[in-house]
Amino acid sequence: MNRDFEVKEVPEIINASYRNFPLVAKVVFGKNSFDQLGEILMPNRKHADAPFIFLVDDVFEGTDLVKRIPLIFNDLVIFVSADEEPKTNQVDVLVERILEDFNELPSGIVGIGGGTLLDLSKAVSIVLTNKGGAANYQGWDLVQKASIYHVGIPTISGTGAEVSRTAVLLGPDRKLGINSDYTTFNQIILDPNLTQGVSKEQWFYTGMDCFIHCIESLNGTYLNAFSQSYGKNALELCKEVYLGDLTPSESRDKLMMASWHGGMSIAYSQVGVAHAMSYGLSFLLGVKHGIGNCLVFQHLAEFYPEGVVLFNRMKERHGIVLPKGICANLSDSDYDTMIVVAMGMEPLWENAIGKNWRDSITPEKLRSIYEKI
Ligand code: NAD
Ligand code: ZN
Repeated sequence: MNRDFEVKEVPEIINASYRNFPLVAKVVFGKNSFDQLGEILMPNRKHADAPFIFLVDDVFEGTDLVKRIPLIFNDLVIFVSADEEPKTNQVDVLVERILEDFNELPSGIVGIGGGTLLDLSKAVSIVLTNKGGAANYQGWDLVQKASIYHVGIPTISGTGAEVSRTAVLLGPDRKLGINSDYTTFNQIILDPNLTQGVSKEQWFYTGMDCFIHCIESLNGTYLNAFSQSYGKNALELCKEVYLGDLTPSESRDKLMMASWHGGMSIAYSQVGVAHAMSYGLSFLLGVKHGIGNCLVFQHLAEFYPEGVVLFNRMKERHGIVLPKGICANLSDSDYDTMIVVAMGMEPLWENAIGKNWRDSITPEKLRSIYEKI
């Protein structure tokens, strides 16, 4: 008998409740690593007729970055606006266009931009091989067939969309992610130089998404050593970036890694109050994720006292003035819509407050917070 193959230990109980989630298969990190894209894609080209489709944030249209995209054969660049968060029908239109323009499936999809473009690229790569529209796959583990090869190249740091197994989409009746093992990128390229040029406000809002992921994960009831190890790291990096004295280049490097760790931290736990309520703002008013989280988080001292103190210091240090009166003219039914969306995020509340969250999180409570925004 070959001893090498003897099974030494069989776990007594195989606990199927622990999630077995995929990681990004390949990662490159470094300044100007974007220029390796051509050689990274080459072995993944099926043949000359199967193009790579580059979905690129239209903020880069006409810039040097586009000239650096390694186009060959019939590769195609499609510019997409990130002014609004990605929608299921937008994914469907892109998929239709790609299927019409080419005789066969592309070799892969490359998303270049922030969370909006990354999520869009993940979703397009799934719907290309799975029948019906993107809305059919919003939820957990509804995707049947493997997606096509997809690459994520973030140009702004904070969401963690580069590491997560979800692609958040606004659908006809809900904002929900396509959560599946096929969503996660096959390859990401982390080039901190690509984040040059982000406005100070956007840098703050998207970076605070990461900070809030850390606070919500580290203060949640779902906390465990896995999430804590990543969350602590990300939080330290956020403090260095927003309160320390780093050079711009160090700051870009560290925020990119904070985003990665923040994303990993919530993989095995959950986000909390700010995210639940921000989903309500986003659904009703189209308020974007980063700024929406900030608008809510500033009023959450009773849930996250230390986090809110730190948040205010960071905000002041960078002279960020958050808009006011966002909910000033809303009707009762508008408030109800936001409250229903927010309270529907059950796992987030359970993580934030515990199993009995409904005892303290009432519609009146949420309305009183929304009224301050
Ligand atoms: P974004 O992609 O919406 O972009 C924000 C703005 O920054 C846009 O105007 C964009 O054009 C601009 N921009 C991006 N890179 C730039 C650059 N280098 N220079 C100049 N401008 C640049 O921003 P985001 O905050 O990264 O993403 C938000 C989206 O991410 C939301 O749709 C949210 O739902 C999603 N999200 C997803 C996950 C996930 O795990 N999948 C997690 C959190 C958030
Ligand atoms: Zn977030």
